[in-house]
Amino acid sequence: MSTVTVTLPDGSTLEVEEGATVEDVAYEIGPGLGSDTVAGVVDGELVDKHTPLREDAAIEIVTPSADEYLDVLRHSAAHVFAQALQRLYPEAKLTLGPWTDDGFYYDVTGVDLDEDDLEDIEAEAESIIEEDLDIQRELLDRKEAFERYEDNEYKQEILETEAAGEDPVSFYEQGEFYDLCQGPHVESTGEIGGFALLEISASYWRGDEDNDTLTRVYGTAFPSEDDLEEFLERRRKAKERDHRKIGQEMDLFSVPDHSPGCAHFHPNGMRMRRELEEYVRTKNEELGYEEVWTPELNKAELWKPTGHYDAFKEDGEMFAWEQDETEYGLKPMNCANHAYIYGDETRSYRDLPVRFSEFGTVYRNEQSGELSGLLRVRGFTQDDGHAFVRPDQIEDEIVDTLSVVQDIYGHFGLEVIYKLETQGDDAVGSDEIWDEATDALRSALESEGLEYQVEEGEAAFYGPKIALNARDALGREWTIGTVQLDFNIPERLDLTYVGEDNEEHRPVMVHRALLGSFERFMGVLIEHFNGNFPPWLAPEQVRILPVSDDNIPYCEQLQAELSDFRVEIEERSWTVGKKIQQAHDDRVPYMLIIGDDEEEAEVVSVRDRKEREQKDVQLAEFREHLETEVEQKRTDVTFLV
Ligand SMILES: [Zn+2]
Ligand SMILES: [Zn+2]
Repeated sequence: MSTVTVTLPDGSTLEVEEGATVEDVAYEIGPGLGSDTVAGVVDGELVDKHTPLREDAAIEIVTPSADEYLDVLRHSAAHVFAQALQRLYPEAKLTLGPWTDDGFYYDVTGVDLDEDDLEDIEAEAESIIEEDLDIQRELLDRKEAFERYEDNEYKQEILETEAAGEDPVSFYEQGEFYDLCQGPHVESTGEIGGFALLEISASYWRGDEDNDTLTRVYGTAFPSEDDLEEFLERRRKAKERDHRKIGQEMDLFSVPDHSPGCAHFHPNGMRMRRELEEYVRTKNEELGYEEVWTPELNKAELWKPTGHYDAFKEDGEMFAWEQDETEYGLKPMNCANHAYIYGDETRSYRDLPVRFSEFGTVYRNEQSGELSGLLRVRGFTQDDGHAFVRPDQIEDEIVDTLSVVQDIYGHFGLEVIYKLETQGDDAVGSDEIWDEATDALRSALESEGLEYQVEEGEAAFYGPKIALNARDALGREWTIGTVQLDFNIPERLDLTYVGEDNEEHRPVMVHRALLGSFERFMGVLIEHFNGNFPPWLAPEQVRILPVSDDNIPYCEQLQAELSDFRVEIEERSWTVGKKIQQAHDDRVPYMLIIGDDEEEAEVVSVRDRKEREQKDVQLAEFREHLETEVEQKRTDVTFLV
């Protein structure tokens, strides 16, 4: 009998008989572990505990305390949903139903569902959990498998693709329900402590818009009811802050039907965007960037030598079309245009770094089902920048960039998570340049005293990078900016500089975006602040509320004295109470309330959006404070503390 060697997470190894299962290995380690085993991770892949080991492998045992247990539980929950659906709607056809980061979904068809139906299905699922049905794996020969799916062309397709080599074919069953499935699963439906269906949307078979439209039902599951409640509470909070909802309430932006994935910025939103633009522009100047502008419309051949054409066009991600026998496209990124400007002149080692920045609008053809407000878009404006540096300048360049990054994110109260992505298998360029560049990124992070995570082998093929993720007020992580080194484009486009030795040398290209894109960053800010923006960003900074119409002329005088700020007067003939309420609803940082007393004494009553109030304030005192607050870009109102 031959044996295989399994390597355990602590590095120790174990010899087991070839064909032994994950569960056998667990029992080998200890009977307690054996009986707790839910599934296994073999060479990085989550598998059923009955999976036989045919060759040497790294293996982890998944018990209910492992992170992967949630994935297993949620996949079982997807089956419970499908069973409940078929009990209520026997005509429903199942397609694919995987687990996801925070739950599961199942794409179904043959049944007309809406949001209201979820409650009944959820109730049926609860009784299936109550029934505590055993979940068992069953192996069928291919003929039987096809017979089961005589009327389901989707499962037939799966049998012919993903499950093409399988014989027998793996099914999982619970009660009267079965599903073509690789598992793994928990032991019984009763293991699911908390189960909820969340929402319903349209999807496409295999995510392709050219295929049939399906109905996607999202749900989630947890080992306990408490965990579920906590999750639902967090989700409710996030929904309240949904940037699409707040964007509408504050009249910041819209994404109408005629421009799917491309936002319109309304005057209020544009006021914020201009503040952000000006801010980044100042930072770019500090960093020595020179602003350029490059066209959105280019011949498609621009992106062929850089490799972008292959990367974007093949995936259908690029907007491109033929006109007058030439292929044109909308730029999916600005790199090629900036590289062109660099290459348009002879550069000397003394000129480097050469840095170009651009608020460059780019277009990528994201699938329509994926689009969402400002966060998933097709058209967006990056605060892009490219620096062309000598290899010996990399570290300084990155140190300067990172120090600006910290400054910027600090003004938004966003915690930045730095991720260093290192060389992968498909890397271009020599190992020496990768080592040198990765060391430069590492020491830049360290000299700035920043903690960072290392993502081994995760870098794109063209160079190592630092990904900048922001953690928002609800603890969610958003990918925002990047600092990316690139050895590939300079090589492919033959970009050079003349060195001290009078020879031609290759520059390294640094791609960086501080905020990422204005669209996405504003989407994140709206949710992070729940619309209560720092005063320097708020579309309306101060609202003056006259107690009666007679006070309006004096209010206009005050507005003129505050002309450096965005100040409106509430002129509707409402009660003061209603005017205050409206200003709160509009999330205006400060209100100045002006009645006859204030007018006579030439003072103002200041109220902030946190409902703090102070009477008899000299306007000059308030104005000076606001000036400081805006100039220092403080994250919240600080006049009345
Ligand atoms: Zn399954
Ligand atoms: Zn770039």
